[in-house]
Amino acid sequence: MRILMWFRSDLRTDDNTALHRACRDADSGVIAVFALCPQQWAEHDWGPAKVDFVLRNAAALRESLDRLNIPLRIIQPGTFDKTPDALAELAQQHKCDALYFNREHEVNERRRDEKVARRFEKLGHTVRSFHDQTIIPPDDLRTTTDRFYSVYTPYSKAWKKAVKERGQPETVPAPRKRKGDADQPESDPVPERAEGFDPSPVPDDRWPAGEKAARKRLKHFIEHGLDRYHEDRDFPALDGTSALSPYLACGAISARRCLEAAMDANGGRLDAGRKGATTWIGELAWREFLRHVMVGFPRVSMNRPYKTVTDRVPWRYDEEQFERWAAGRTGVPIVDAAMRQMNTIGWMHNRLRMTVAMYLTKDLLIDWRWGERYFMNRLVDGDLANNNGGWQWAASTGVDAAPYFRIFNPVRQ
Ligand code: FAD
Repeated sequence: MRILMWFRSDLRTDDNTALHRACRDADSGVIAVFALCPQQWAEHDWGPAKVDFVLRNAAALRESLDRLNIPLRIIQPGTFDKTPDALAELAQQHKCDALYFNREHEVNERRRDEKVARRFEKLGHTVRSFHDQTIIPPDDLRTTTDRFYSVYTPYSKAWKKAVKERGQPETVPAPRKRKGDADQPESDPVPERAEGFDPSPVPDDRWPAGEKAARKRLKHFIEHGLDRYHEDRDFPALDGTSALSPYLACGAISARRCLEAAMDANGGRLDAGRKGATTWIGELAWREFLRHVMVGFPRVSMNRPYKTVTDRVPWRYDEEQFERWAAGRTGVPIVDAAMRQMNTIGWMHNRLRMTVAMYLTKDLLIDWRWGERYFMNRLVDGDLANNNGGWQWAASTGVDAAPYFRIFNPVRQ
C-alpha cells in the first residue's frame, strides 16, 4: 500500500496519529500533502498573521519530513470544494491507493472530508481517518441523560474520569527515517505568501515556527511557569501563561504532549498535587469542552448563538465605535492596550480577551459576531471553537456563559 498522508491542523511529525499509522501500514511508500486554500481561509476570516504562521509551520514540517525521507507535496485547490479532485489527482499521479488523515471537527471541514472520502472510495482507494486533536474525542462524553454537556464543571469531571479510566494517553515519537522509493517525488517548496493575503504585521521572531519551537516553549513553561500558573495566569503584565495557543491551533504540538508534560511534572497526577499543574490541565480541558460543544451544537459555528433566545437581542452596529475599539482608541487604557497587543503580536492574554469582549458587547452593546470576526482576522492562534466559545461566553449567549448582568468593570480588571 502506498499512502497519501494529508496534513491539515496537525503540522508536526511528533505524536501524530495518522502519520504514525501511515508509516506503520505503508509497504510501498508514504507521500505527504498539504493543501493551500486561501479563498477558503479568507471565507473563514483567517487573517495575514494566522496564514503566515500556518505557512511557516508547513515549511518547518517539510524540513522534518525531509529528514524522515517523506516528501511533502503542495497542492493549491484554493477552496474546500476543489480539494477532493486535487487530492485524487495527486494520488493517481503518485500511484497512492490509500489516504490517511487526522479528523477536524468544524462543520465545513467535516463536509469536505466526507466528499474527499467518497471521491477516494469511488476510485477503490482506502480512506482512514484518526482521532488526534484532543485527549478525549469531542463526541465521546455525554451527560447522564445522554446529551452533550453545556456546562464546563460537569464536563470537566467527566473528562477527568475518562482520562483516569483510559489511562494517561500514549504519545508516539516521530516515525523512523524511511528507506525511500525509486519513484519518490521531491518535496515542493512551501510558498511564503498565500494569494490575496497581505504580509503578516507580526515579526517572525515573535512566534518562531515548527514543532521544535513548540516543544521548547512547552519545556520552558513546565520548568519556569507551571508552578505559579494558578497565581500568575490572571495578570496580563506577567508572562504567566504558556503562550502555546498558536502551536496548538496549527497542530505544531499535540494536546497529549501538553498533558503528558504537566502530569509528569505533577508526579503522574491529573487532578491532585501541584495547584499550578492541575489549573493548567483544567485549561486544556476547556479547550476540549469547547470542541465538544462545537460538535454537539453545530449552530455555534454557523454564526448562531448557543442560547437561541439571544438572537432577539437588538445589538448595535455602530461602525465608528467598533473601529475605535478595534484600533485600541476607546480611551479606556486596558482595553486599548489589549487591542494594540493583538494588532501588534497577533496574541492577547486571556483575561484581556475577556475584558475587551465584555467591553464591546456589554458596554458598547455591539454584536459579538463583529468582535469574533475581528479577533479571528488578527490572531495567530485563531481557532473557531475557542474563539466562538470565548465570545459567546462574554456576550452571555453561549454555553456556561457569564449571566447577562455580569459585566467586567475594565478599570477594576
Ligand atoms: P494557557 O493559559 O497556557 O493555556 C494552555 C492552553 O489551554 C491554551 O494554549 C489553549 O489551547 C487552552 N486554553 C486556555 N484557556 C482557554 C480558554 N479560556 N478556552 C479554551 N481554551 C483555552 N484561544 C485560542 O486558542 N484561539 C482563539 O481564537 C481564542 N479566542 C478567544 C476569544 C475570547 C473572547 C476569549 C475570552 C478567549 C479566547 N481564547 C482563544 C481562549 C484563551 O484566551 C487562549 O487560549 C489563551 O489566552 C492562550 O494563551 P496560552 O496559550 O498562554 O494559554
